[in-house]
Amino acid sequence: MSGESLDALKDIIPENRLKTELPEMEDYCHDEYPDIFIEPEAVALAENEDEISKILKWSQKYNVPVTPRGLGTGLSGGCLAAEGGLILSLERMKSIREIDRQGLFVTTQPGIITKDLQDAVEKESLFYPPDPASLESCSIGGNVAENAGGPRAYKYGVTRQYVQGLKAILPDGERLSFGGKLIKNVSGYDIAGLICGSEGTLAVITEITLRLVSKPAQVIDLLIPFPSLRDAAETISDFLSSGIVPNTMEFMDKAAIARSSKFIQKELPYMSSQAQLLIQIEERENIDSLLESVQVVAERHNAEDILLAENPVQQELIWQARRNLYEALKQSEGSMEIADVSIPRHRIPLLIEGLRKISEINSTEIINYGHAGDGNVHVHVMQNFIESEEWDKRKLLIMKEIFNLVSSLEGVVSGEHGIGFLKKKYLKYCLDDQSLKLMQAIKKTIDPENLLNPGKIFI
Ligand SMILES: Cc1cc2nc3c(=O)[nH]c(=O)nc-3n(C[C@H](O)[C@H](O)[C@H](O)COP(=O)(O)OP(=O)(O)OC[C@H]3O[C@@H](n4cnc5c(N)ncnc54)[C@H](O)[C@@H]3O)c2cc1C
Repeated sequence: MSGESLDALKDIIPENRLKTELPEMEDYCHDEYPDIFIEPEAVALAENEDEISKILKWSQKYNVPVTPRGLGTGLSGGCLAAEGGLILSLERMKSIREIDRQGLFVTTQPGIITKDLQDAVEKESLFYPPDPASLESCSIGGNVAENAGGPRAYKYGVTRQYVQGLKAILPDGERLSFGGKLIKNVSGYDIAGLICGSEGTLAVITEITLRLVSKPAQVIDLLIPFPSLRDAAETISDFLSSGIVPNTMEFMDKAAIARSSKFIQKELPYMSSQAQLLIQIEERENIDSLLESVQVVAERHNAEDILLAENPVQQELIWQARRNLYEALKQSEGSMEIADVSIPRHRIPLLIEGLRKISEINSTEIINYGHAGDGNVHVHVMQNFIESEEWDKRKLLIMKEIFNLVSSLEGVVSGEHGIGFLKKKYLKYCLDDQSLKLMQAIKKTIDPENLLNPGKIFI
């Protein structure tokens, strides 16, 4: 960034909201993926649409890349300045504009923490279902940009299913508005749907209108331990074909449970079991018959027990263990490589078996957990005590084997964490050349100079 362009930037953003030196830019040099550090040339904390539009026009004039950033909890390096330039942080734009109780919508700025938005609508007896496990630290804008999912996606769907309207600013600084408080809208292309999940490469999202639903009844959490991974995986498949639709169906293997217990320093139920399913169901009229169906299917696959978490303390303990899994693994010895694969959900048993074989053949620990009811499994390849040089070779080989397995099961490279720059070399495992070319053509039409979040998604 030249001295001239920096001076011009200072005319748009006051110095107290502009960072250009390392100690104060430290937080913006990484996301939550392990071991990455990329220093931007500057960080601007925008406060309104006018500033963002001016910054994007400035980026075109001085040929400086701009990378939008929410709260930096991403797991694919999407919010990092991969090709240098400016980080545009949306963290200060966090006001809720309106909660529309009549129409069941909320309109908000992008920087609000997802949990804060959920709490605000719940105070009005409404409900915003998407619940990424990072909900206490990620932003709703980041959720839209990544089309985030979460445990409740099994029943309620992912972020895109709630985005009804967007205000966004294109790379040339033009402001646009798509959709609105509408449930049905096929008037032209669904551009809001395209921006959702585009990882900040097509537009900067500045306002979001989300559909809300009524607050569900009380929920019940069930924890079901199994003697083998296969039994747990087959139970998931069997639940699906039996038409059992709980809110969530989360899967954790034994190693994941052990790491989480150590991290939160609490003994967890059934720590000797090989795998567990965490299931949440809503209390309603047919609750007894639903519980009975769950029991019948689980017992068919050798469930060791069924724990009904009856009180908030027990419920909090099992969800605390689930929510802290990633942090717990991050504390492990050595580094790790993460894949966030998504496959047709009835093929979960084949995925789990394939991963077990890859782990065995390569003598490397692979820990799995995730939103198994959606077919979305977070696969963690652990370095543990493998020497660095050997680890660098082995992790690449193992990742390729994992994506070959996923491809053979007709799955994709990412279910919710996005491609960013860390997974772009693997995108070819799930997209053919024509699809890739079409996506690149869309990017080129909207951002011909490739200045908005360059170096992401495509090689
Ligand atoms: C412990 C943990 C658990 C997680 N669990 C889940 C989970 O259950 N489900 C899930 O989907 N993800 C999960 N994630 C990943 C991450 O939290 C999500 O991707 C989240 O949506 C990122 O939000 P953020 O505000 O942190 O975005 P950032 O990390 O800041 O950015 C992510 C991407 O969005 C773009 N972006 C951000 N804001 C905007 C904007 N206003 N306009 C345009 N582009 C923008 C950035 O350029 C970047 O490409 C988890 C992460 C962690 C660390």
